[in-house]
Amino acid sequence: MTKSLNEAIKSLSPEIQMFINNRHKEIREKYLAMLKTKLDRLLKYYEIDTDRFIEQYSLDSVVPAICMNEDCNNIDNMEPDQGEGYCEECHTNTVVSGLILIEELHE
Ligand SMILES: [Zn+2]
Repeated sequence: MTKSLNEAIKSLSPEIQMFINNRHKEIREKYLAMLKTKLDRLLKYYEIDTDRFIEQYSLDSVVPAICMNEDCNNIDNMEPDQGEGYCEECHTNTVVSGLILIEELHE
C-alpha cells in the first residue's frame, strides 16, 4: 500500500509537520510573488490591466506570454494554455501565457 505524501507528513512529529507546512507556505508565497512580478511586467509592456487583458485575449488563439527565467524578460505570443513555450533568448521552454499567470494568481 502506498501512502500519499499528506499521510506520510501526518505520521511525523507536530514540530516537523509545522516546519514542513511553513516551508511549503514560504515556497508557495515566493512562487506567487515571482508570478506576480512577471505578470506585472507583461501588463506594463502592453499598457493594460488584468481585466482588460482577459477581455482582450481570452478568446484569441495567441496571447502575450513572458519568459519565467529570472534574468530574462523576453515577451512573445503563445497559445492561451501554453505553460512551457520556447524562449528565443534563453533557449529553454520557459515562456508562459499571460492568461495562465492570471489564472494561477487568482485561484
Ligand atoms: Zn527567456
